[in-house]
Formats: sequence, C-alpha cells, structure tokens
Amino acid sequence: MKSYIVGNWKMNFSVGESSVYLHKLLQKTRAFRDIEVIVAPSFVALQPLSLQVDRKKIRLAAQSANPHDFGAYTGEVSYTQLRGIVDYGIIGHSERRQLFHESDKDIRASVAAALRNQITPILCIGETETEHTFGETHDVLRDQLLGGLSEVSAEDISKVIIAYEPIWAISTTTDSRIASPDEIGEIAQFIRRTLVDAYGESTAEAIPLLYGGSVNPTNAGAYLTVPGINGLLIGGASLIGDQFIDIIETAKKVKD
Ligand code: PEP
Repeated sequence: MKSYIVGNWKMNFSVGESSVYLHKLLQKTRAFRDIEVIVAPSFVALQPLSLQVDRKKIRLAAQSANPHDFGAYTGEVSYTQLRGIVDYGIIGHSERRQLFHESDKDIRASVAAALRNQITPILCIGETETEHTFGETHDVLRDQLLGGLSEVSAEDISKVIIAYEPIWAISTTTDSRIASPDEIGEIAQFIRRTLVDAYGESTAEAIPLLYGGSVNPTNAGAYLTVPGINGLLIGGASLIGDQFIDIIETAKKVKD
C-alpha cells in the first residue's frame, strides 16, 4: 500500500501565499510512486492551486464541504462543486466536530457525498482527553468509524482513508502531549480489527490508516514505522515548508 502524507493548512495563508508555498513544495518534491503527498489549503485557494499543481507530485484536498450537492445553503461549498478541483476531502476533523458541531450524521453524509463526487474521503476519528482518561477510547472510535462509514456501499469501502487523531495529542490543544508510537500501535490494531469485523479481512486490509497529532520531522519516522499505520495527517508542521519536506523525505526512506 502507498504511504500518505497529508498537510492540513487550516485557516492559514492568503491565496498568494498558498500559491508561493505550493510552488516551493513542487520544486522540492519529486514524483513518488509509493507516496501520495496531499495538501489541504483553504477554499479560496483551491481553484487557483488546482491549475498550478502537478498532480504527479501533489494532490489537493478540501478541509471540509457541505454534503448537499446544490441548493439554498448560504455560505457553503459542496463536494459537487469541488469535483475536478480536489482529489481528497478531509471529513470529521475534530475542529469541525467540536467548533462547528458537526454530528456523526453530517459526517456520514459528507463521506457519502465525497464518494458520489469521485473525491476520496479522509475520515478523521479521535477521542478527547476525558474520553481517553475514562477508558472510553475504543467505544468512541468504534462509533465514529462505523457511524461515519454507515452509508458507504461495500464496493466503495476500500476507497476511504481513515485518520486517527487523538484530540489530546493535537498540537493546538491546551496541554497536548505526544502520543507514543506504542499507544498508536495499539489503537491501529483496534481500528483494523473493527474494520475486519465490519467489512472482512481483504477489504479492511486495503484501507489506509493515517496517524495525526503533533507530528514533526523528529517523530515522523517513529509513527511511520508503527505496524498498521500507512501515513500521517499533519497540521502545524505542514505550514513550514522545510519541515513538511523533511517529513516527506522520511516517508520515502521508511518506504525504501
Ligand atoms: C490536526 O489538527 O489535524 C493536526 C494533526 O495538527 P498538529 O499536527 O498540529 O497536531
């Protein structure tokens, strides 16, 4: 399976800055057959960057979108409108769940809408610090995972990517702490088992599972070698060109 390195730029960079940054990434990145590099700029930058990007090197993702195809949804952008502009869509990021109150129902509708529009969903799941402390991690992850995928047909399940992001390990969280590779390994096994139980071994084994939470050039190699982890979703370090490129190069070394 390929490795996936995804940079979530969140609400950072103007359109001009996004374009300059993409230019730098394109100059410094080679086209890898076994690594998919994906960046998620803000909405306003997606269309111009889609004309600039070299898809052999870098693919674009939306950070979120509305699950309806068209209609009276003031201020929203749909996956249908993003079709042809992005190849991937980040769905259910903890900031969308927490700050914008996206429910499991919204998230499952988004996963279905992305697939309907030929956009690969990157479904984010992760427990809060409190859920972690009270031993609820497995229940929370099972609900988010199976809830998010419940409208996906058996045929489409292998087109989905899962990203495990423990909220307590995300760098912008107060008092965030680094998750150890062993902790991530245990959760990766749990997620894979849950997928195997729900969809059978061969389908489940084909679903890429990414880790996200305070990944940087120093710890990226350790997370990428955790059994069952197929890539990284990166926030803070993806905003710094040298760090993001360093992580891509680490992924290449791990692959080789
Ligand atoms: C994120 O918010 O998805 C994330 C992983 O951020 P960071 O890498 O900064 O922890």
